[in-house]
Amino acid sequence: MKAAYKADRSKGIEIRDLPVPEPKNNEVLVKIEAAAICGTDIHLYEWNDWCENVNAKNPMIIGHEFCGRVVKTGKQVNLINPGDLVAAETHIPCGKCNMCKTGKQHICQNMQIIGVHTDGAFAEYITIPEVCAWKLPDNTPPKIGAIYEPFGIAVHAVLKSNLTGKSTAIVGAGPI
Ligand SMILES: [Zn+2]
Ligand SMILES: [Zn+2]
Repeated sequence: MKAAYKADRSKGIEIRDLPVPEPKNNEVLVKIEAAAICGTDIHLYEWNDWCENVNAKNPMIIGHEFCGRVVKTGKQVNLINPGDLVAAETHIPCGKCNMCKTGKQHICQNMQIIGVHTDGAFAEYITIPEVCAWKLPDNTPPKIGAIYEPFGIAVHAVLKSNLTGKSTAIVGAGPI
């Protein structure tokens, strides 16, 4: 498959032919239909201090905002099926720490991020844990599905605020 590959710690990415990944028992293989570019991808492209501070994987395939169709599932996957259209929750919880065990997977102490600590979505295929796959209505345009991840951040911010009935200034040109 073709993939946007970060080969080393210098600036830039390159297109490489790489093998299609095989899903592990708890993973699904997704054929990417659309992907969005995040500020994080710019950090990785530049390979600045942020990448070293978060201990980003290198070399790797970058990209984490995406939508695609499941084509294969691991042996222990039971809620997602081949043919499902999915978007991804980018954060991979460990499932073992105190936070994960008490229902707070979003602040897992061993959090990994798709396309930062694992191979990402700027490729024809990606494998992700089933727990990160969110099934979408089948008629969702993939371009819309690809921005659900940043959109979720905006929704979270709004739900944390008391905006009902108020005028709101939205600052910035990105999807969030
Ligand atoms: Zn992002
Ligand atoms: Zn955890």
